[in-house]
Amino acid sequence: MAIERTLSIIKPDATRRNLTGKINAKFEAAGLRIVAQKRIHLTIAQAEAFYGVHKARPFFAGLVAFMTSGPVVAQVLEGEAAVTKNRDIMGATDPKKAAPGTIRAEFAEDIEANSVHGSDATDTAAQEISFFFSGIEIVG
Ligand code: ATP
Ligand code: MG
Repeated sequence: MAIERTLSIIKPDATRRNLTGKINAKFEAAGLRIVAQKRIHLTIAQAEAFYGVHKARPFFAGLVAFMTSGPVVAQVLEGEAAVTKNRDIMGATDPKKAAPGTIRAEFAEDIEANSVHGSDATDTAAQEISFFFSGIEIVG
């Protein structure tokens, strides 16, 4: 397996409930290293651009409103097979379907306010990392 990097976002429902540390502890316990991290409040234009792939979906407007409703913590996670490992730690999009012990099973409020984002492939990970971070901000 290869060492990969993936883009993670701790979403506004989780920052509001002060869950950043608990979520980061799960990444670190699973062997992922947080090699970049910043807390930001996305603008509507930034959230629309980041989730542009979902523009035609009925939940798009709600998703953008939610993602701009409070601060998020954007981060780069690094480790063996980091993209799929992070998706496993996150659990299914709908917390009702997420496996026990996953972040979404433990912390998500519902299918929209589901506490974390994680890139879904290595190519989208590279695009999403460069959306938030410059090379100098990532320290492995
Ligand atoms: P993410 O991209 O945030 O890591 P994901 O890959 O599990 O999540 P996607 O299908 O990419 O899920 O959806 C992006 C986000 O849009 C979800 O995480 C969730 O916040 C929201 N979302 C997805 N489906 C719905 C839905 N049916 N109703 C409301 N919000 C939804
Ligand atoms: Mg997705």
